[in-house]
Amino acid sequence: VVRSIALLGATGSIGKSTLDVVARHPDRYRVVALAAQSNWKAMRELCLRFRPRLAALAEPEAARALREALAADAVSTEVREGAGALADCAALAEADTVVAAIVGAAGLASTMAAARAGKRILLANKETLVLAGGLFMQACAASGATVLPVDSEHNAVFQCLPPGYERGLGAVGVRRIVLTASGGPFRERRPEELREVTPEQACNHPNWVMGPKISVDSATMMNKGLEVIEAHFLFNAGIGELEVVVHPQSVVHSLVEFADGSVLAQLGNPDMRTPIAHALAYPERVASGVGPLDLAAVGALTFVRPDFERFRCLGLAYEALRAGGSAPAALNAANEVAVQSFLERRIGFLDIATTCERAMERVGVRPVTSLEDAVAADAEARAAAAAILANLS
Ligand code: NAD
Ligand code: MG
Repeated sequence: VVRSIALLGATGSIGKSTLDVVARHPDRYRVVALAAQSNWKAMRELCLRFRPRLAALAEPEAARALREALAADAVSTEVREGAGALADCAALAEADTVVAAIVGAAGLASTMAAARAGKRILLANKETLVLAGGLFMQACAASGATVLPVDSEHNAVFQCLPPGYERGLGAVGVRRIVLTASGGPFRERRPEELREVTPEQACNHPNWVMGPKISVDSATMMNKGLEVIEAHFLFNAGIGELEVVVHPQSVVHSLVEFADGSVLAQLGNPDMRTPIAHALAYPERVASGVGPLDLAAVGALTFVRPDFERFRCLGLAYEALRAGGSAPAALNAANEVAVQSFLERRIGFLDIATTCERAMERVGVRPVTSLEDAVAADAEARAAAAAILANLS
């Protein structure tokens, strides 16, 4: 089958890796829509190369510049602008597959649009599951949309799980899911050093090259916390069935343990093209451009328990999952505001966890039964975090 792809977040790290895999298989994949925020020059290059039917930029000025440039290039791609245009790409009739790779809550509406439209969704935008995981999974079930996890840990778990896990892990003999975490660039720093670390150091991940937001999340281990919440919704896993282990080599991407004591794991080089290629081709397999795993060169695989005192964000995510309702959405929003502030050098690294913790204390926990509930919780926590930050800096 030839798959027609709408790629949301085309100019980002996941977007680039996706297009790298897609370009290796012109007989299998066609790009029909591309969406991003504002980088119209990068979008112009992508439109010249992949000739999509639709291109969307969230920022109207950038969209205008792209429209003019493509007209001059005699490229017939239609250019739309604004948040609504992202959802247009996600629900485009010509697309059967949507790669949801926008960063943050900004990806919520378009990812939900893909779910409602019954698409095959390659999900990288974990924030959608943290904000509105229950609603998203319900929308997918109602429309017949398929979710294929792109996040490397969840893709690994998906590869190891037996069929029928949706009914509950216990029903298919699974005891627990173990998510691996690299521990990020500050795993071995002394706690007092963490006060002074810079955005550049936080974004310099030992194993993965990623966008700035998820890189900072990896350094605080909020990323692993968000992934615990992501796994809860994706795999219908109880909080007691979800564990995290630190594995600095990032070769074992995650594990599934069964009632009989068997443990299955997926291994590979740390390169997102592997989970992307898996999700693109599923249930088949295609080349991704990733080289073979040389275990002898890796030498040793090590594992240690996470340090919840050093990485407070990980504990906050477990607390938010336990509290349920709007708590994960609030945590995600507070974190987005705090990370942005850290990247702009307005607060220190340790202030990220402090901001999240205080914001969680300030906002109440309410049920999330509609997208509006999720958006309201997000807005309330953003306002709370902004007020807390104003006092910190
Ligand atoms: P990135 O910062 O490199 O790229 C983000 C993309 O989103 C860009 O194309 C940008 O234009 C677009 N975008 C941002 N704000 C937008 C807005 N308001 N409207 C429209 N588009 C917007 O991020 P990334 O590292 O590629 O991560 C993307 C998602 O994938 C995140 O949710 C992240 O958690 C997840 N993820 C990434 C990796 C990785 O290796 N990079 C691994 C696992 C999961
Ligand atoms: Mg991950």
